[in-house]
Amino acid sequence: MEQSKLTYIEQKVERITESGCWIWIGRTDFGYGTAWFNKKRTKAHRFVYEVYKDALTKEDQLDHLCRVRCCVNPEHLEIVTPKVNILRGIGPTAINSFKSSCTYGHEFTEENTYYVRLGKNIKGMRRVCRTCARKRTNMWRSYPKEKPDAKTTKNSSN
Ligand SMILES: [Zn+2]
Ligand SMILES: [Zn+2]
Repeated sequence: MEQSKLTYIEQKVERITESGCWIWIGRTDFGYGTAWFNKKRTKAHRFVYEVYKDALTKEDQLDHLCRVRCCVNPEHLEIVTPKVNILRGIGPTAINSFKSSCTYGHEFTEENTYYVRLGKNIKGMRRVCRTCARKRTNMWRSYPKEKPDAKTTKNSSN
């Protein structure tokens, strides 16, 4: 840890005991603290995070768990990886990069996967495992055909 950076942070931060937030009392832009160090301008929470925790890449985005924009407590910050961000968008590539198998361990190969829209007005797709889908269908088929009363069937299935 660089001593000069730590000293700089100490001068710019006010710790709120109740919430644990480290409020940036230096310059702020759009609610976010701005750090000026060695003639370099950085977002204050990114600056502090890098000093205390880990180096960030340009793609790494920090999310405030406490929802206080000007808070720079590294413990209140969480990296939102590009993967997560891409997943919120669309595209099979983005989806495929996420998980290689379904919850039950069936591999998401091309033959075993189909895509469904997340919702009518929601951009994005979700992968469905064909093996599991087939199992679900078979389960429905094996159900007794005659249902004495729709209501009791519903209740007893719970
Ligand atoms: Zn905070
Ligand atoms: Zn499956």
